[in-house]
Amino acid sequence: MAQLRAVETPELRLVYVDPAETFLIPYAARTFLNSYEFQRRLFKFDPREPVNVLLTDLSDAGNASATSVPRDSLRVEIAPLSFAFETLAANDRLNVIMNHELVHVATMDQTAKADRFFRRLFHGKVAPVPDEPESMVYFFATTPRVAAPRWYHEGSAVFVDTWMAGGLGRAQSGYDEMVFRSMVRDGTRFYDPLGLVSEGTRIDFQVEVNSYLYGTRFMTWLGRRYSPEQVIDWVSRREGSRAYYSSAFRRVFGVTLEQAWAAWVEDEHAFQQKNLDLIRQFPTTTGQDLTNRALGSVSRAYYDPEAQRIYAGLNYPGALSHIGAISLATGNIDHIVVGPTGVFLLDSKRLGGVVTVDERGMTVTRLDDPNLVYQHTGDRHLLALSKRTHDQTLESSRIRLWVTPVMVIWSDFPQRVVEGRCNYVHGDELEAWIRARPQRIAASRIPQVADAVRNSWRPEVVGHDSTAAE
Ligand SMILES: [Zn+2]
Repeated sequence: MAQLRAVETPELRLVYVDPAETFLIPYAARTFLNSYEFQRRLFKFDPREPVNVLLTDLSDAGNASATSVPRDSLRVEIAPLSFAFETLAANDRLNVIMNHELVHVATMDQTAKADRFFRRLFHGKVAPVPDEPESMVYFFATTPRVAAPRWYHEGSAVFVDTWMAGGLGRAQSGYDEMVFRSMVRDGTRFYDPLGLVSEGTRIDFQVEVNSYLYGTRFMTWLGRRYSPEQVIDWVSRREGSRAYYSSAFRRVFGVTLEQAWAAWVEDEHAFQQKNLDLIRQFPTTTGQDLTNRALGSVSRAYYDPEAQRIYAGLNYPGALSHIGAISLATGNIDHIVVGPTGVFLLDSKRLGGVVTVDERGMTVTRLDDPNLVYQHTGDRHLLALSKRTHDQTLESSRIRLWVTPVMVIWSDFPQRVVEGRCNYVHGDELEAWIRARPQRIAASRIPQVADAVRNSWRPEVVGHDSTAAE
């Protein structure tokens, strides 16, 4: 029978389910103690009680939370972390969880003399109770730094856990950087500290992600503009520090929190504007839809150049999550048309912008941002597919075809039709254009040619639903 067991050291009371989690215990204890020693040195953190750590395995993804009131405790979900969308940057899960959560414990539980006096008076740390509003006063008197906004806690914890992992963490993650770059590009309003806690943390749908994003970004900026030591000084509760987090800020940095925040927002805009200008000097990498089906959650994908396939874990409604193979070759074919005027390989594109075609190929100019001009490379892929259709049909049926590649454009395309090695035809002109081509296949041979083309593409069936993930 599974049962709860505990391992104790002077610093730690580790509670876990035996035997399911037993294998993790030496490692969990070791990562805890490593982090604990680090916080002790960094914050001069010296708790009066062991920290309780409960390991649970009730979730599909790793996670953890920390509290300090009434006792220092962590709850750790031991499953692997979710790296979907790369919102998280981390190394080993227990290592990063212990590093991160113990920063919370250290910054919440540290005391100055006055806090210790009240803890003795009230026999410990006082949790605020909604029915007893005056409990807030006792709460603040015993644990003043717990009474700070979430961005303050998450920002400092991410700042330190990134530091502890040698720079691998959300404080330097590409995802965080991208969020703020997109906000500057789109002219999105940045919350001030009050707006963040009143509205900014209520509108996101998951984990108060704005607290992490803003807190981390602001702390990192402070570290660069002032110094990492001052950041640590601010979030430490020591003798002589101010109890309230924003008063402590002013004492350490010499300006108000609101002034520093406004300076960060201004710097972030200048920094990201420079990045955007740099990015715009180069063409955007063009995307190409491999399938029309919504694939739901997709894992990191692996490319097999020999099979011309992409393998990825897929999870969409109506099917068990599974590993799928997505063919690059058939992935983008809408239709192959076989008729008296020949064999046409059609690839439809609906691009967000005005399309122009010249000897270099297709250029797309974005309507929302005329600075964004890029060369679309989809025609190269289409030429390769046409050649492959020709070769495969020849091999399987000895029929030599003339396969005409046609990029069917459903966007704004003032030239309407441009003929060449690859043909570009506006969707509205397509039927008339195909009918007007010179005759190439006798009517009696059309079924035979169509069969040959179809067979040459097996088992990757060509057609509208050829793009289904397997
Ligand atoms: Zn946290």
